[in-house]
Amino acid sequence: MTAPVTHRALNWGGYPAQAQRMQEIAWPSDLGPAMLDAMPPGALILAHGNGRSQGDVGLNRDGVLLNMRACNRLLAFDATTGLLTVEAGATLHEILAFAAPRGWMLPVVPGTRFVTVGGAIANDIHGKNHHAPGPAHGGWGGSFGHHVVALDLWRTDAPMQTLKPGDRLFHATVGGLGLTGVIVRAQLRLRPLGSGLLARRIVPLRSLADFFEAMAIHGPGHEFSVAWIDLLAPDNALGRGYVELANWLDAGDGVLPAPTLPAVAVPFPLPFNAVNPFAVRAFNTLWRMRPRRREAVVDYRAFFWPLDGIGNWRNLYGPAQFLQCQVVIPHEVAEGALVKIIRLLRTQGRPTFLNTLKYLGGHPPVGWCSFPRAGVTLAVDLLMEGTPTLHLLRQVEDIVLLAGGAIYPAKDSALSARGFQRMFPHWTRLAEVKDPHMHSDFWARVSAVDNYT
Ligand SMILES: Cc1cc2nc3c(=O)[nH]c(=O)nc-3n(C[C@H](O)[C@H](O)[C@H](O)COP(=O)(O)OP(=O)(O)OC[C@H]3O[C@@H](n4cnc5c(N)ncnc54)[C@H](O)[C@@H]3O)c2cc1C
Repeated sequence: MTAPVTHRALNWGGYPAQAQRMQEIAWPSDLGPAMLDAMPPGALILAHGNGRSQGDVGLNRDGVLLNMRACNRLLAFDATTGLLTVEAGATLHEILAFAAPRGWMLPVVPGTRFVTVGGAIANDIHGKNHHAPGPAHGGWGGSFGHHVVALDLWRTDAPMQTLKPGDRLFHATVGGLGLTGVIVRAQLRLRPLGSGLLARRIVPLRSLADFFEAMAIHGPGHEFSVAWIDLLAPDNALGRGYVELANWLDAGDGVLPAPTLPAVAVPFPLPFNAVNPFAVRAFNTLWRMRPRRREAVVDYRAFFWPLDGIGNWRNLYGPAQFLQCQVVIPHEVAEGALVKIIRLLRTQGRPTFLNTLKYLGGHPPVGWCSFPRAGVTLAVDLLMEGTPTLHLLRQVEDIVLLAGGAIYPAKDSALSARGFQRMFPHWTRLAEVKDPHMHSDFWARVSAVDNYT
């Protein structure tokens, strides 16, 4: 096996930017003692998916990342049950290129389809349907982990093992941030569909209060929902934007068009940040006012992944680093806490475009440290401007803690140990079963003895 190669930052937000050693894994059988022997002495390891996590959950400064992308083979599919067995380095895009034309869809998809199965499980990702009934109630909602039937895990201290719901290590690994071992294969339940079309309704929002009203009226009748809000709006229009609600149109010929790779891409970082305050204001206005029919039938690819049409759009940020701040706040106190957070971000931060609000449902979490839980989640991109930005995020963390909410590790580079340990009280169980050779920069920060200042 060749030695690990050093790369520049491998996370989506570019912060923290650091050199990172990476080892290519071509086959699951590459994982083993020979690979460990080829590592620099004392180096700890961590699986790498497709680097779509914004922060440091997928970074391992002093160690080595194991690049799982080449382990992306689709191994078996049962067209009667919809069970797909796939290697963990496959992206959701690659799965859908196979499954969609056969009339099958992944039940839970995030805002980009360029994440791997391993990354989707390790962060127990959610989509626009978390609030819909889950498999326990005959539905397709919940988080990604609700639809994982089994997974194969390689650890440095045990033979390869197959884990199923009910096994302790299964619930540690789903939402386990890559720390329990390398997910090598997974068996996923796909959903049969009659068409790739959705009936979409748009409800304009003049304020945050409108969002809660719209969700109370229309939310229960729709499987999917997401709101896009303008965080630069003045106080009297705080939360203005619109909410999109949708249901599958099931009647059809049982074929979904396959997703295609982006026709246009931003091939390298622009030499300047195209997402400057002026551009953000203009974008927010255009996005809010772009012509859309209130009720329309839309293609699933445009509905789920409006940004995936531009390859590597992150390069629009140019050399700028950014952080994403994603919080979930329990329903009962969501409106008050979100108003506080939005005011804080607007006055002190530099929110960029595409700020989203979603409802998360009350499903029992699959993973001990899964992020999705009952509440309202707000996701905001922020330009990284050094200490003031980190200080601002600490203030957001305080509001979230007081409200009994949580911050999403997949997006984070700033959460304190105290904050993480309160938001994820089962973190000690994860620490107990963590693979002793696995490590991440996120874990170094949040598992430390209380570092809150
Ligand atoms: C534009 C955009 C939109 C997004 N929208 C959403 C959204 O709607 N909902 C949501 O929940 N998230 C969303 N995300 C976040 C994204 O879904 C997660 O960060 C996801 O985990 C990224 O997967 P990845 O394959 O790129 O993994 P990476 O970022 O490479 O790694 C993420 C974590 O998974 C671990 N990991 C990766 N592969 C394996 C493996 N084989 N075995 C064990 N551990 C592994 C890594 O160690 C790391 O801890 C979005 C991200 C972007 C960039």
